[in-house]
Amino acid sequence: MNLDHVFLCGNPALDLAATLRARRSVRFEMFVSPDRLDAWYLESGIVDAVSASQEADVEQAIAVREAIYGLIKARVAGDAYDGEVLALVNGMARKPPATPQLTASGRWTEATPEEVLATVARYAVELLGGPDVPLLKECGNPECTRVYIDRSRGMRRQWCGMDSCGNKVKAAAYRARKKQARVAEVG
Ligand SMILES: [Zn+2]
Repeated sequence: MNLDHVFLCGNPALDLAATLRARRSVRFEMFVSPDRLDAWYLESGIVDAVSASQEADVEQAIAVREAIYGLIKARVAGDAYDGEVLALVNGMARKPPATPQLTASGRWTEATPEEVLATVARYAVELLGGPDVPLLKECGNPECTRVYIDRSRGMRRQWCGMDSCGNKVKAAAYRARKKQARVAEVG
């Protein structure tokens, strides 16, 4: 698996939660270094520039990410939030966020890793306390475990993305059908 970040879920809090991939099986970690965390912060579009993360920032981001995922999972399942997990995310959301500044040619957002993380925590609060909760759906690829916002008509979106999951699952189903057809022919 590669370490390129993708943003398929429709909200930065969901995309952050998805940086631990295949949660039920291989549990593939995307934040293997401070560098990969900084790349996520930049590619998320939340900031134009971020001061370099240290190992402690990675640990903090992973802790907040896991707390956010815990809240997402509880909300989707209709379970009560865990008090400690809730306090962690709310505490992070209360910290100073990344703040855009107006410039002569547009705007520019420069922040510390913690400020970006605070912004993501605010996204989590707004998402989970907002009207999009009924649209939250886990990807139809059982291995994937990404949760996204399904804004398609009739909520018929099955995958986090065609490239990431849809084509893979369809190809596997096709191979399985072909194999079965062969078995039928032989028998
Ligand atoms: Zn998926």
